[in-house]
Amino acid sequence: MTQKTADKPTPVFHTVLADPEVPFPELTGGEPCRQTDSESWFPEQGDNGGFARSLCLTSCPVLQECRSWALANPQLASDGIWGGMTRSERNAVRRRQALQSLEAAA
Ligand code: SF4
Repeated sequence: MTQKTADKPTPVFHTVLADPEVPFPELTGGEPCRQTDSESWFPEQGDNGGFARSLCLTSCPVLQECRSWALANPQLASDGIWGGMTRSERNAVRRRQALQSLEAAA
C-alpha cells in the first residue's frame, strides 16, 4: 500500500500516522542514550540493539514520550533505537495502528 512521489514510494501508513504535533520529549539529562555511547542506539545490521533497548525500557524517564514521538515521526526516527523499539518494531506498531484505523472506519 504505497503512494507514488517524485523520488520513491511512500508507505501510506507513514503518511497517515505521521504527526509532527507530537512533541519531542523534554530531556532531563538522565536518559541512558545521553549517558552512553550513542553508537549503541544505532546498531549495525545484524545487531538487534538489545543493550540500548534494555536501557531504554529499564531506566529512561521519558520512555513513553520518546516512543510516542518516534512512532508519530517515522521520517525523523527512521533508524536506530527510539523508545526502546527497533525500526521494525515501530513499523509493525504503525501497520497495526493503520489496520485498526481502517477497520474502525469501515
Ligand atoms: S527511550 Fe528515547 S530518550 Fe529514552 S533512552 Fe531510549 S532513545 Fe533515549
